[in-house]
Amino acid sequence: MKNFIPYGKHWVDKDDIKSVEEVLKSDFLVQGPCVEKFEKEVCKYTGAKYCVAVSSGTAALHLAVLALEIPAGSEGITTPNTFVASSNALIYAEVKPIFADIDEKTFCIDPKEIEKRITKKTKVIVPVDFAGQPADMEKISAIAKKRKIYIVEDAAHAIGSRYADGSYVGSCKYSDLTCFSFHPVKTITTGEGGAITTNDKKLYNRLMMLRSHGITKDPNNLKTNPGPWYYEMQFLGFNYRLSDFQAALGLSQLKKLNGFVKKRRQIVNKYNKAFKNLPNLITPFEKEGVKSAFHLYVVQADFKKIGKSKKEFMEELKNRGVGTQVHYIPVYHQPYYKKHFTLESKQYPVCEQYYRGALSLPLFPKMSEADVNYVIKTILETVK
Ligand SMILES: *Cc1c(COP(=O)(O)O)cnc(C)c1O
Repeated sequence: MKNFIPYGKHWVDKDDIKSVEEVLKSDFLVQGPCVEKFEKEVCKYTGAKYCVAVSSGTAALHLAVLALEIPAGSEGITTPNTFVASSNALIYAEVKPIFADIDEKTFCIDPKEIEKRITKKTKVIVPVDFAGQPADMEKISAIAKKRKIYIVEDAAHAIGSRYADGSYVGSCKYSDLTCFSFHPVKTITTGEGGAITTNDKKLYNRLMMLRSHGITKDPNNLKTNPGPWYYEMQFLGFNYRLSDFQAALGLSQLKKLNGFVKKRRQIVNKYNKAFKNLPNLITPFEKEGVKSAFHLYVVQADFKKIGKSKKEFMEELKNRGVGTQVHYIPVYHQPYYKKHFTLESKQYPVCEQYYRGALSLPLFPKMSEADVNYVIKTILETVK
């Protein structure tokens, strides 16, 4: 049998290994110079003023929501079509997650549905740039500005993506804070890892302290200063720091990011062409002008018409060496969410319909041409 092709896979090469090895041989494994260098490079790439690297994408979201100092008991609006971390971050900060249904084409949160769910308690919106395609940030930021609501953009899928105006996701053009994940299935990796970008100096300073226990040593920020040993913990923070060797990996991965995106888009174009005329399979939609980094290739399959259940379809592909996944189980389906919040599937008809048909096909830059052709051939034979 052919080698198994997973739905996603990281790319680590000799340059990455060398970059990490250098740090491992140096004096600093943590709190050395690489983290700051990595943060500077993320700023340069995205166009944001400030960046704080952290230990995961989840940590990034957690600190982003905390940095806003939203009163406990407020509400935050997010999408149900996401990984649980997006809405968990709200819960960590004692903000109640409110889900708004998704757009039927982009599968990102629908601005009209956001507006319907805004109350006096709404203090933050957490849109997700699903599969790499930016959410409708132009509209969402207009909605939020009018009502003084913050925006934390979950861009775990979207480093390397661009909005219709050409600016990069992470520039915070349409958000107060943007969060990235560098988990190995994402577009670039540091192992575990994440980052927050912002253009707001105050938020940046708070994030820097939150990342390290809420501690400051900055003489300009201390209440008193009895001597060189002195530091102050001014609020409750965490240890969410990234290691230096992880940042070194991030630095060498960042150099390859544009190449990764290019390769992903080439594969997407090939898939789109091959599947264009399949009546029971809808290929991903990309909004005019937008440049998605295509973290995922999500198709909408009509399993009824194909005559196989999703489970049968996935198993058949798996047996033939093609890995697939479903992104995502709507968050309101999760037992924890059902237990703690009153959530009904019928409030989210678009997300329900999406979930029935959604399937992510293999997409990662290391795929060979033969891999891509094999996936195409297998899909064409399986949907018949
Ligand atoms: C991966 C992911 C996260 C969490 O990132 P980690 O680095 O795994 O903690 C958050 N949101 C979305 C949409 C993700 O895909």
